[in-house]
Amino acid sequence: MSDNTVLIVGSIGLDTIETPAEKQENIIGGSTTYSLIAASRYAPVSIVGIVGNDFPDKGHAIFNSHATNIEDLQIVEGETFRWGGKYHNNWDDRDTLYTELGVFSDFRPKLSLHNKMRSHILLANIHPDLQQLVIEQNDNKDALIVVDTMNLWINISRESLINVLSNSNILLLSESEATLLTNQENLSDSASKILDMGLETVVIKKGSNGAELFSNNEHISVGAYPVKNVVDPTGAGDTFGGGFISVLASGKSITDALVYGSSLASLCVEGFGANKLREVSESVIMERITFLKSTLNS
Ligand code: AMP
Repeated sequence: MSDNTVLIVGSIGLDTIETPAEKQENIIGGSTTYSLIAASRYAPVSIVGIVGNDFPDKGHAIFNSHATNIEDLQIVEGETFRWGGKYHNNWDDRDTLYTELGVFSDFRPKLSLHNKMRSHILLANIHPDLQQLVIEQNDNKDALIVVDTMNLWINISRESLINVLSNSNILLLSESEATLLTNQENLSDSASKILDMGLETVVIKKGSNGAELFSNNEHISVGAYPVKNVVDPTGAGDTFGGGFISVLASGKSITDALVYGSSLASLCVEGFGANKLREVSESVIMERITFLKSTLNS
């Protein structure tokens, strides 16, 4: 039996983030965390992931309050994944200062019977071999699989990533990742090369220039909400992905998914970590959706 629960697999970590304005340590982060918080607004969400026994109670509280099912969250002896990033003065580019895999280095996602039958699967940013392990355990042939990635995997695990893409429906990636993956500067050339890899749809995120969705018979572009005060850009892509897939799981159109994902991402960057995303009211999200709908082009 299938339902409309979104299954999310990705990283769960403790981040130290330095922006041009401030530095904060041990923020609850990781691609799963941001995606979960966003997705839980519009659909039930189940997570699969790993944390160490040092993972703080406030992190567990996030999972307990936003996820409807955490039976595949492994809590093991050892240190939780840690990541440190520092943003350049333009607030867009960033350097990874360190990545400490901790318990993540031995992580093998294992899906319970319920999680093998989910209707929507978000393969958030993690090593493509781990994304593939989730695909292999999925028993729902009709599941919609949305995949996110990053420059690192395109550079060091291209073959594994291409294998994951050939088994997925929708790829979400940034403009620079699309260029890196396809060697094409032009967005629509890049998109058609990606579609040739076996996907039905690709969404190319262009930061403050919005996003474009390409499929074989559709091209939709949406602008970005003009954020006045960026506080911390971390997690915007993961937030977009969580919003995007949960809106699809709720039965809305792919255009709505694009617009809701963009609205949530614009709110994510207005707070440090996922703070703003957790607190924001639905009416603020909807105001931005109204604006973003006015920027749609297809
Ligand atoms: P984003 O800003 O959307 O790229 O997402 C940032 C999140 O990705 C942070 O919370 C990090 O903990 C997480 N992250 C950074 N590097 C990696 C990695 N190599 N694998 C998985 N997650 C990562």
